[in-house]
Amino acid sequence: MQSTRYDVIIVGGAAVGSATAYFLAKLGFPVDRVAVIERDPTYSEAATPRSLGGIRQQFTTRENMLMSRFGMEFVKSIGEHLTVDGDVPDVGWKEQGYLFLASDKGLASLKQNHVVQRSIGAQVEILAPDALKAKFPWINVEGLAAGSFGFQGEGWVDPYALLQAFRRKARSLGVTYIEDEVVGVDKDGGKITGVTLKSGKKLSCGTLINTAGTRGHFLAKMAGVDIPVRPRKRIIYVFDCREPPPRSPLVIDTNGVFVRPEGPSFVCGVSPTEDKDPDCLDFEIDYSFWEELVWPTIAHRVPAFEAVKLVRAWAGHYDYNTLDQNVILGRHPDCKNMLLANGFSGHGLQQSPAAGRALAELVIHGGYRSLDLTRFSYERVIKNDPIIEANVW
Ligand SMILES: Cc1cc2nc3c(=O)[nH]c(=O)nc-3n(C[C@H](O)[C@H](O)[C@H](O)COP(=O)(O)OP(=O)(O)OC[C@H]3O[C@@H](n4cnc5c(N)ncnc54)[C@H](O)[C@@H]3O)c2cc1C
Repeated sequence: MQSTRYDVIIVGGAAVGSATAYFLAKLGFPVDRVAVIERDPTYSEAATPRSLGGIRQQFTTRENMLMSRFGMEFVKSIGEHLTVDGDVPDVGWKEQGYLFLASDKGLASLKQNHVVQRSIGAQVEILAPDALKAKFPWINVEGLAAGSFGFQGEGWVDPYALLQAFRRKARSLGVTYIEDEVVGVDKDGGKITGVTLKSGKKLSCGTLINTAGTRGHFLAKMAGVDIPVRPRKRIIYVFDCREPPPRSPLVIDTNGVFVRPEGPSFVCGVSPTEDKDPDCLDFEIDYSFWEELVWPTIAHRVPAFEAVKLVRAWAGHYDYNTLDQNVILGRHPDCKNMLLANGFSGHGLQQSPAAGRALAELVIHGGYRSLDLTRFSYERVIKNDPIIEANVW
């Protein structure tokens, strides 16, 4: 059977895959030579629509900060990028900030992180307990030494709306989306020559881009390589509160429990400890985190949350990089025409515009043009040299 040929096949058409398709088109790559293969165009199991859509500057790795800042700037000017037929997408950007809290134990690193963040121009301030109480009178500052508040350039978007805006724009520019699943990768020596789809069709390609998210390691395996990325479940609890605190930022307590408003309700959660964090793809909800850790923490921190009504919960999966919880981006050394964008862990939505642009630059120019992301390459996996990013959870 003769196979259809594309120069670029993008496997996975959620936030990162669709951002990549969009940037390829925007940067002038011939779109009739690009196909996005997506197994489920409803995205029912993908990480993107299950995400909280948070965008923050408060990382400790320069590249993470710069990627997320580009994401924030992109979202704030979304009409300039993703308008289709005069229809400006509404991605629901809420610039309400992130507030990281620290006890005496965490104070030194909070201050250290602050210096790094300020040095690249992040709009963050350290608030002592008095200042915290003055700014957020609804917070109980007991046990706190300080908080780091991102007063500008941090907030959250509707992740599904961002994904759909990328997808719609990419399609309007001529990129082909194919509803099918890649079930096999064909190779000749160290080079990928094409893919086999569940429908039985075969496509050949010049470059394969792995934006398969939580299933990215399955795709890598089909190409004969291993990436240290596995699906890890995260649970989000949604509650209502009779007297909600006004205009709250996303608050991260000293034990990692986070909470933020979502419309008239609130969303919250916590990442489990490593021993309670198996690789898995199920969507079962464990309410013990809510009962034993999440609710007690938020009720202590915000007295208004002592009386809340849990209304629902959902589970999703991080594409969790077991080496260092940061993206692996760029070529795989043993399979040079496969580009990876895997292992974003909990911060891939905000980095999707920067990752999409970076992948498009690699395809078109063979190297990065706008932001040097070499540090995220697979080589660090080979060297077992993790990037130490303090603000991931
Ligand atoms: C609960 C939760 C909260 C989060 N909160 C945030 C946050 O606040 N901020 C943030 O920046 N990030 C957050 N994230 C992380 C973020 O959602 C992900 O990093 C990001 O969405 C990854 O996007 P992606 O396009 O790479 O992958 P995905 O969204 O997982 O999409 C991958 C796509 O590939 C398709 N696919 C897979 N295999 C194949 C195949 N073989 N053939 C064809 N198609 C295939 C899938 O169907 C899917 O649509 C959160 C994640 C979760 C689970």
